[in-house]
Amino acid sequence: MSSYALLVVGSLVLGQPGGDWFNDYKPFADIEARLHVMAAERPDLCTLVDIGDSIEGRDIWALQIGGTAADKPGVLFSGTQHAREWISPMTNMFIAEHLVYGYDTDPTIRSRVDSAEIMIVPVVNPDGYVYSWTPNNRMWRKNRRDNGDGTYGVDLNRNWGAGWGGTGSSGTPSSTTYRGPEAFSEPETAALSDFFIANPQIVSAVDFHSYGQVVLSPYGYTYDLPADHDLLMDVGTGMASAMTAVHGETYDAGPTAGTLYQVSGGMKDWVYDDQGALAYTIELRPEGSPWFELPPDEIIPTGEEGLAAALYLIDRSIAVPEPSTLLLLGMGAVGLLWYALRMRIAKR
Ligand SMILES: [Zn+2]
Repeated sequence: MSSYALLVVGSLVLGQPGGDWFNDYKPFADIEARLHVMAAERPDLCTLVDIGDSIEGRDIWALQIGGTAADKPGVLFSGTQHAREWISPMTNMFIAEHLVYGYDTDPTIRSRVDSAEIMIVPVVNPDGYVYSWTPNNRMWRKNRRDNGDGTYGVDLNRNWGAGWGGTGSSGTPSSTTYRGPEAFSEPETAALSDFFIANPQIVSAVDFHSYGQVVLSPYGYTYDLPADHDLLMDVGTGMASAMTAVHGETYDAGPTAGTLYQVSGGMKDWVYDDQGALAYTIELRPEGSPWFELPPDEIIPTGEEGLAAALYLIDRSIAVPEPSTLLLLGMGAVGLLWYALRMRIAKR
């Protein structure tokens, strides 16, 4: 069992945080309310930021945890670009709760929150998520854009400006993978990309989806491997191993196109190409059936797996060695790659 698993078990034994909130899926209003409670109860630790509005005027929230000192690396977690993937907002909220309410009692949480700025955007697509809670619409995936031809919705994870328009996206508005008329045509992707641009301290990011139990790295829009492939795989495999260690559920890791299928206009490719940050999609439980309808009693175990990945990524994002340390400790190729990536981010 890894130290991450022990940590998760330890915090549950202590009886905090979360209560029974994670015993069932929660509608958007409950998620918003919970975010406001966290920000109100711990203003010393977190700030709730409205980063933009959806097409139907709902707020897109980011919970910023751990202060905004300029010298701290930023790590961003997001979810629910796809409305029907209900385990995604719950896992983001589970991570947020444990970071905020574990701060006082768990020294390993405190050291991470003190050393990083952690940003959590649990519901990128509030309109689609609300719609998926209405009768007969549980399998809705896209946002709620009126396409003007009798169809609704753009697939937000095909609307980002990296490889936009390529294989693995559709130009047909009725398609579930419709990419929209142009990159960032949708206010939801525009809001989140603007948030990245406004926060250049972000060095790594995970966008949670379901299903498949796999940690996916760039690229999606091409089978070519990115320049930082070795580093991306080293960190991605580490997250997958940390997740597997919690409950023995298998999580694999690999580049998106070769591991899953080609996806053009996806978020993580833009975050990596344009922002220079390590970027991943994590497909949460289940592995297959029952697909998007994961039983509610798996919300907490999946949250524990997501938290293990988050803590691992935060650790790796904090612990970027200085060049002198690299030489002294023989940190090797992966350490050098991290250092080079951070220098590129610092120069932006
Ligand atoms: Zn998805």
